[in-house]
Amino acid sequence: MVINKGIFMMKKIALILSLLALVSCSQITQKSNPQSFMVGATLWIQNAAEYRALSYQAFNFAKQRLNTDLKYRKHSKRRAVVVDVDETVLDNSPFQAKLIIDGESYNRENWKEWTEKANAHGLPGAVDFLTWANSQGVEVFYVTNRNIGLFDATYKNLKTAGFPVKKENLLMKTTTGKKGPRRKQVLDRFHIVLLMGDTLGDFDDIFDGKPLDARATLVDSKKKDWGNRFIILPNPLYGDWEWALYNNNYKITPQGKQRAWEKHLYPEPLN
Ligand SMILES: [Mg+2]
Repeated sequence: MVINKGIFMMKKIALILSLLALVSCSQITQKSNPQSFMVGATLWIQNAAEYRALSYQAFNFAKQRLNTDLKYRKHSKRRAVVVDVDETVLDNSPFQAKLIIDGESYNRENWKEWTEKANAHGLPGAVDFLTWANSQGVEVFYVTNRNIGLFDATYKNLKTAGFPVKKENLLMKTTTGKKGPRRKQVLDRFHIVLLMGDTLGDFDDIFDGKPLDARATLVDSKKKDWGNRFIILPNPLYGDWEWALYNNNYKITPQGKQRAWEKHLYPEPLN
């Protein structure tokens, strides 16, 4: 009888312990951590040799495309290549890593502090490609949504990293994040052979501010351009793709982000 009572008590304790474990687990899943996907993305960018390979692949392919154009095409204007800066030619993953380690989120101050260090490295293959393009008489333009206030630091960083850059060819954000007007400035004088970027707005303004399904449809409508006029690099860290998950709501709370992530994880293949 005493033994039975002891076993009953032990079972009761085990049940209470497992219930407590369940409660604490659900609290973990319920607790919003806006950085949780950043950890995986940053680990991948900083450690996966596959990321390096993708970057070389993009720039090797860009060289092939430009070389073909130089050999076989004639244009009335001089040629230009237009590249975005962040996560297209400069690697800002140390900034992301520091945010995670310090438990911070992106803000203007910490971004300014990072960019003013001007010590971001070039992505694998980027300096070689743009140096070669420049040596072929192709004008290299950098069209970035870094704010104009970061001009000196950005110019210095591109120079230090070894990129061929002229001050007049560094087109930063002044009044609008839309890049179309700056691409137009280039187009007025040059034939743009290639656009390179890591987010859709680097290629055409029609993608800006669109919801997820429209982004996919528009990418499909331009399927001939990818790998031809447009060369895209992977960026799982941030970008318009993430804002599209949140219906482009720039005021979304961490809890809202968590709900959006859960809503957009599909356990079955999509149509
Ligand atoms: Mg970028």
